[in-house]
Amino acid sequence: MHEASIAISLIETVSDLCQQEGYNSIESVRLKVGRAAGILPDALLFAFDVAKSDTLANKAELIIEYVPLGGVCCDCGSHFDSEERYIFACPACKSSAIKITRGDELQIIDMEVN
Ligand SMILES: [Zn+2]
Repeated sequence: MHEASIAISLIETVSDLCQQEGYNSIESVRLKVGRAAGILPDALLFAFDVAKSDTLANKAELIIEYVPLGGVCCDCGSHFDSEERYIFACPACKSSAIKITRGDELQIIDMEVN
């Protein structure tokens, strides 16, 4: 499962950071996940809970901030957000000359350690 490998590498990353900073447990991790990143938040939360046992993150809570898809139209210049996973045309003028500017994020915002 896609989310399982993401959860494992996420835990490896935060554990390394935690150790480098000289702490020994992770309380929470905030993650920014874009709508178009192809990740199911529920599956990722579940995978995180499974993968975190026996790691520095075994008590950590994963907090997901979902980022909607956003873009700009090259024809009419309008900026738009979408709850869709993919968007192919400008909602205002139906042009397909659009540029997606956000929604594919997968990044750690911050974490709390002890
Ligand atoms: Zn447009």
